[in-house]
Amino acid sequence: VNAAPLLDETHDAALRSWVSAAASDAADFPIQNLPLGRFANCADPQPRLGVAIGDGVLDLRAAVNAGLLQALPAATQAACAGAWLNDLMARPAHEVVALRRSLSALLALGSRERQRTEACVLRRSDVRLLMPVDVRNYTDFYTSIHHARNTGRQLRPQNPLLPNFHHLPVGYHGRASTVCVSGTPLYRPHGQALREGSELPTFGPTQALDYECELGVYVGRGNALGQPVSLGHAPDAVFGVCLLNDWSARDIQRFEAQPLGPFLGKSFLTSVSPWVVTLEALAPFRIPAAAREPQAAPLSSYLHTPADRNFGGLDIRFQVTLSSRAMRDAGRAPCLIGSPQFRDQYWTIFQMLTHHCSNGCALLPGDLLGSGTVSGPSDEELGCLLELLQGGQRTITLPGGETRGYLQDGDELRITASCVAEGRASIGFGACVGCVMPAL
Ligand code: MN
Repeated sequence: VNAAPLLDETHDAALRSWVSAAASDAADFPIQNLPLGRFANCADPQPRLGVAIGDGVLDLRAAVNAGLLQALPAATQAACAGAWLNDLMARPAHEVVALRRSLSALLALGSRERQRTEACVLRRSDVRLLMPVDVRNYTDFYTSIHHARNTGRQLRPQNPLLPNFHHLPVGYHGRASTVCVSGTPLYRPHGQALREGSELPTFGPTQALDYECELGVYVGRGNALGQPVSLGHAPDAVFGVCLLNDWSARDIQRFEAQPLGPFLGKSFLTSVSPWVVTLEALAPFRIPAAAREPQAAPLSSYLHTPADRNFGGLDIRFQVTLSSRAMRDAGRAPCLIGSPQFRDQYWTIFQMLTHHCSNGCALLPGDLLGSGTVSGPSDEELGCLLELLQGGQRTITLPGGETRGYLQDGDELRITASCVAEGRASIGFGACVGCVMPAL
């Protein structure tokens, strides 16, 4: 239970696939990654599951029908042929590991099944990527101590960090029905807010539209009502991760959030990247959890294990870029506005999961946990505009001379990320993209 994450032949940096990796966006998906997603294409509009490999997608239903996954249990094969990832997420962790090993063997250079597997691989440019998981519950946390301090300072300069922060990963229940795949347009939402100089709220399009760069964590098997998951077993209950943008309307949020917290200022859209990177693929990038601050009380015993301290962190480096309509029209490249790192998160994804069900709350396969904004200690490592703009005191200057406070119509926000470790093949996550459309 307290062992280091398992590395096997699927993580070997020397391993190569026979699938072409010439496309520029193929570098995210070497054979050591094998993330899972859901897609359709013109030839077959029926949604099905797939695996990203180089610039291709392996059609899992076709692979099952061709008998390529015959060595796996019938239930794993049935889940692979399903229309959503949820059934696969509900399988025991060892079956998911066995699937990864089978996929790796099929796609590796020298595979005896290359010809039959090749018939199941489509070009990624020919498919439409869909929402991979039927998310029934979405919870968003607040696990960056830098984000908590930077935002807390705006409200309570003397006392930015609230006393609960060192004791538990703070969270709120979000809205599952508006978790959508990358590329879903974001229509500027309406809401009540106090406008400059007015004591009464008015209803209208938000004037403080923000993004939050986060990691999304998908629950695997989950737990029955009343049966918590210990921190030692939490890694078995996590299926994988994605990139997540918790779009936020700060003016709506500010007026409505007292005393019950986030509501309509966030429930209008949450975007996720289409590929789910499994916990197995992340094994080479597990690192120690961020150090506890010296003044923090000792962790409650249910939130502490040596394994979580030693291997609970994830070395994931994010990049957030913004491109305005004028920048795109002028052929300018997107502008990098933040490069936060997940290693700086104060709470681990396993502590998030264990804390979530510590009261007996049932987590279902495919439930989504947001990490909260990922922000680091420096100005280059901030994960949202609320922090970058210091509550409206600063603006950002874009290439071409435009300035930005909060997001404008036509702005496109893109989150990407990568994992890099010495002696290991780097892996990526694809992208979580959204473009701001005028209010309806
Ligand atoms: Mn958030």
